[in-house]
Amino acid sequence: MQFNSAIPGPDLANRLCGCIYEASARAGRNLCCFQGVSRKSEILYVIFGALVTVKLTKNKPLAQYTTIGVGGAAEYFCQPCNLRELLEALSYAKAHDLPVVWLGGGSNILIHDRGISGLVLRLANRASNLVVKGDLVIAEAGSLLFELVKHACKGGFLDLSFCAGIPGTCGGAVYMNAGTSNGEISQKIAWVELLDPATGSLKVRSSQEMGFGYRTSILQQEPGIVTRVAFYCEEGDGKLWWEKARAQIARRKKLQPQRVRTAGSFFRNPPEQVAGVLIERAGLKGARIGDALVSTIHGNFLVNAGQASSDHFIQLIRLVRRSVFEKFGVRLELEVSLLGFSEKERGDVQLIL
Ligand SMILES: Cc1cc2nc3c(=O)[nH]c(=O)nc-3n(C[C@H](O)[C@H](O)[C@H](O)COP(=O)(O)OP(=O)(O)OC[C@H]3O[C@@H](n4cnc5c(N)ncnc54)[C@H](O)[C@@H]3O)c2cc1C
Repeated sequence: MQFNSAIPGPDLANRLCGCIYEASARAGRNLCCFQGVSRKSEILYVIFGALVTVKLTKNKPLAQYTTIGVGGAAEYFCQPCNLRELLEALSYAKAHDLPVVWLGGGSNILIHDRGISGLVLRLANRASNLVVKGDLVIAEAGSLLFELVKHACKGGFLDLSFCAGIPGTCGGAVYMNAGTSNGEISQKIAWVELLDPATGSLKVRSSQEMGFGYRTSILQQEPGIVTRVAFYCEEGDGKLWWEKARAQIARRKKLQPQRVRTAGSFFRNPPEQVAGVLIERAGLKGARIGDALVSTIHGNFLVNAGQASSDHFIQLIRLVRRSVFEKFGVRLELEVSLLGFSEKERGDVQLIL
């Protein structure tokens, strides 16, 4: 099969983005806000001209948007439904000098109990927006990865069966280069469309330019918001792919704790080793600090067994790292992103004391 992996250049959409972003950023502090008060949070409707453009919520609790169920509130919170709303929210942040943090399905993050100052953007929609265009399958970043896997496999145009059972969104999967021992999502990616949060401009990077590696991408060094991902179409037997996907989900159910609040594997596998095995051999399964627990089923899964705080998890992470280092001389690297933590706090987590 011949692939048309041509990367789209700056187009009309990009020019429009620039216009929306610049115009609303210029209007800046004059953006009028209508404020409503709900039971817990104050809601701001940002009004530009005569139009309500985007809804921001103040002091929005964030734990509910994470699979681990930990973390304080966002100073401002927004769930943009489309690119225009995303740009409006970013320009509001720029006009008010608010730092911006973005998350997807919240399945690989630990948020600090004091919350996150500035604007938090949640880029996750339940529906999967998939378009097959020529030899490419294009997905919106906020689409759930599982929906993408299901439609791509069942439709017989892309075998993503190795990603079956990984929670979260396509955007989060790109940031992490999510995968399993059977493959990584980057292997199927043609290009990624990114929004620069500082300028509001869109750019497209080829898979090679994304700096993909084991559970890493360039986005872990250079901030960029994934807006769309293009995958190469494949030819194959969709029924077989979907069967493989279902078998993988069944396998995971046997090996991983079910119906628990967790962010999955907390640590990256060191070269040639498996973090979960090292943690188990260090005798840490079942270790507990407060309500933060090392799963008794899978050593690399740290679990919120009740009302765990972010501090409980930080203490448990440090205990695990110290024990594994003392026993095997291996420094485990965190896989989970820490949000709302200062640089110093992030650095302290890396210390082995
Ligand atoms: C039970 C369980 C099992 C798991 N199994 C696996 C597994 O087998 N393999 C695996 O790789 N992972 C696994 N994970 C981890 C997690 O599901 C993946 O890393 C997932 O890809 C994260 O996606 P997310 O949308 O939830 O990202 P989030 O957790 O919301 O965010 C993670 C990081 O991605 C960034 N991000 C999110 N969306 C975007 C975007 N649109 N643009 C730019 N950056 C963005 C955030 O800023 C954050 O730094 C598991 C997690 C759980 C809870």
